[in-house]
Amino acid sequence: MPGAGCKETRSTCPYCGTGCGVLLRPDGVGGLAVRGDPDHPANRGRLCSKGLALGETVGLQGRLLAPQVQGRETDWDSALDLIAAKFRQAAEQYGPDSVGFYLSGQMLTEDYYVANKLMKGFLGSANIDTNSRLCMASTVAGHKRAFGTDTVPGTYDDLEQADLIVLVGSNLAWCHPVLYQRILAAREKRGTKLVVIDPRRTASCDQADMHLKLRAGSDVALFNRLLAGLYEGGALDADYLSNVNGLGEALEAAFAADAAPTGLSGNEITAFCDLWLRTEKVVTIFSQGVNQSTSGADKVNAILNCHLAAGRIGKPGCGPFSVTGQPNAMGGREVGGLANMLACHMDLENSSHRDAVQEFWGAPAMPDRAGLKAVDLFRAAGDGRLKALWIIHTNPAVTMPEADVVAAAIKACEFTVVSDITAATDTARLADVLLPAAAWAEKDGTVTNSDRTISRQRAVLPPPGQARADWDILADAGRRMGWAKAFDYQTPAQIFREHAALSGLAGSFGLDFDISGLGGLSIQEYDGMAPVRWPVSRARQGGRFFADGRFFHPDCKARMMPVRHRAPAATPDRRFPLRLNTGRIRDQWHTMTRTGQAARLSGHLAEPFADIHPQDARKLGVESADLVRLHNTHGQAVLRARITTDVQPGDLFAPIHWTGETAPSARIDTLVAAAIDPVSGQPESKAAVVAAERWQAAWYGFAVSCRPMAPQADYWAVARTEAGYRAELAGQAPLTDPEATGRDLFAMPEAEVQMMTDSCKGIARLALFQDGEIMAALFTAPGPVAVSRDYLAGLPGASAAGVLTGVPAGDQPDPGPVVCACFSVGANTILHAIESGGLMSVGDVGAALHAGTNCGSCRPDIAELLARHPFQQAAEQDGFG
Ligand code: SF4
Repeated sequence: MPGAGCKETRSTCPYCGTGCGVLLRPDGVGGLAVRGDPDHPANRGRLCSKGLALGETVGLQGRLLAPQVQGRETDWDSALDLIAAKFRQAAEQYGPDSVGFYLSGQMLTEDYYVANKLMKGFLGSANIDTNSRLCMASTVAGHKRAFGTDTVPGTYDDLEQADLIVLVGSNLAWCHPVLYQRILAAREKRGTKLVVIDPRRTASCDQADMHLKLRAGSDVALFNRLLAGLYEGGALDADYLSNVNGLGEALEAAFAADAAPTGLSGNEITAFCDLWLRTEKVVTIFSQGVNQSTSGADKVNAILNCHLAAGRIGKPGCGPFSVTGQPNAMGGREVGGLANMLACHMDLENSSHRDAVQEFWGAPAMPDRAGLKAVDLFRAAGDGRLKALWIIHTNPAVTMPEADVVAAAIKACEFTVVSDITAATDTARLADVLLPAAAWAEKDGTVTNSDRTISRQRAVLPPPGQARADWDILADAGRRMGWAKAFDYQTPAQIFREHAALSGLAGSFGLDFDISGLGGLSIQEYDGMAPVRWPVSRARQGGRFFADGRFFHPDCKARMMPVRHRAPAATPDRRFPLRLNTGRIRDQWHTMTRTGQAARLSGHLAEPFADIHPQDARKLGVESADLVRLHNTHGQAVLRARITTDVQPGDLFAPIHWTGETAPSARIDTLVAAAIDPVSGQPESKAAVVAAERWQAAWYGFAVSCRPMAPQADYWAVARTEAGYRAELAGQAPLTDPEATGRDLFAMPEAEVQMMTDSCKGIARLALFQDGEIMAALFTAPGPVAVSRDYLAGLPGASAAGVLTGVPAGDQPDPGPVVCACFSVGANTILHAIESGGLMSVGDVGAALHAGTNCGSCRPDIAELLARHPFQQAAEQDGFG
């Protein structure tokens, strides 16, 4: 294993589907220096704030180090024997469909391959699904309906060769920042136009030429209007359409469509259609705003219809482009890790495919129909149909719709296994067996990014304690279940070769996913494998699909689908009048088990929030920084109110990242109904309906500490800081004894206390000291606490006097909330530099402070700070800026 002074190792970032290459240099004491790989085709050296902070997330705090059964540590033999016995027993006694796996787009292809083989080929069920069902199942369904296969036609180079980029339901600036920066860099050179289609104003709109703020769920209506416009404008490609079925029906549906559901004006729609029509090179990028919908597959097909009709697909700078949320969502699709897929893009319901895979695997039993998709899988766990469930690297008790119901289902399931790197997740707490898994920097394997590029992930740190790689754990379980030969894997290279050989079988059926050219890699060649885009076969290597008009339906033609607008499953009404949209924030990833460890990533947005339009806030009597309670028949969440016109009247936005570990009352998926797309099975995470009200708190608090805190308040949210932790608190019963509250919160009985109270105003402030250093401080008030949070967050461990004022002395800087996470630059630092240095542009700020000069995700925030400043306003009035 590499140590101090060792050379850099190439690997891949484990977060979004961009799949950036990283160079890792272990420091020899468990840490890691990380930089972007200049030779990786996805990022060419760039990284976003999350990728750059990877080195801060590899610590061992909170790691699960040994297997546990019913909360007691045990050894691997005991844990795996128990798992093997329980799964075999359930399958034999109740049938193969009484067992299930729920996997994750975080798993490596080799892990996924073994899991899929074990469940589909040997346990004999297709009850294997993944959190990719919540992410891009609608795209898979749309691709298969249009192309006959699940293929992303283009490559990232197309984003730089396009003259028009349309972002649909994608906040690329925050969720795939490196791709967004690649587009902006190309725009500088060729003047690429950028259109954003999103109900919400996001950071991606900052540079947009046009932002179409359509109503939630109305994308089909808009793209049907575009298809009709293409026909009317004479932009259909007759030659290309000779390879496409379904034009007549699709046009009929498009002309019958009404654009009213979009809520856009006729002028807006015409301007968009005109721009699309007159721009030959157009790429439509779509993501969760399209997929996470009860009409997600139809939305995807509405987009694909336009590209097929205009023949703008498979050529440089053209095509529909699905960007995946997770690092290996694509690899999971390739191995068949979804309940309705077989392996290597073969079909479960095709007997020739099934027989071929069964023979290849030497499998005793193969299911001939789809298994339970995510929502149904957990329903089956809850109602007793599923007797044994194995959840790997995902946190469904937080992330599934109706999360409270899912948590209860996991608890109710007779036997649940969770493999994870930590026991501190809402799901792990419900498991019968916990298995310690190796983490990102400890694992070897491959991942596939959004443009079909397969990259190696390489282990650079030793797994701590008894942690093991997922493929190794799954293969060991398979052997203990009685299939020693089929799961006799010693290395991930061996699994990859088998996967590649199986893909050759798929190729022999004429399918697209064929990497048989990689089937003969030696261990050394696998270790040194450079990023490569599939397919990799004797017939072809990488490149784009479909320029030749050959598709993967039996007649080799594409299919345009007649699609019609369907409103989201739930409609706002008097009881639940608001539409809740959910999504990611810039610096966090999923349920924060890793990004939550990096203090600088928590500095950007340290607390869960709900964005509310000023009109709605007025109606509700909610003011900025109040707490607001959202509720519906499924659950409730308490969040900090942010009043902003970024959302439309009647809409709310809230992030998905907070959990029982970090803010138990802010688990937003408790509010999302388990309504699914009938074609893809993907839940509608973007259009819940809720009621909102001001959450009446008797007191509010803000706390900092050098040690983890144990909040007992009705509302709390904790985040890491460089000096320790910070917490927002609030309670509904009056705070009678602030000192006792502080002592309980900080659990520091030995510390000296300084305290200040104003009983008339209901304010209390206390600080705990040890050896002259501040250990912790708590500020409480009857309303939202007004103190300098970022200054206070830096105090634990320091010997600052005057802490109880809650603000820095005149000579001490208060950096303000983090704006640039790459270089840890706060809002106040930027404002001060603008004022004192007369800075006029984002570039000036970058030159002075480095802020915004790396991943660029914070450039819109810097522009906003500049716009706030009188210099800038005066310059704009003078026509100077
Ligand atoms: Fe990682 Fe950021 Fe690249 Fe996504 S864009 S792969 S999160 S560095």
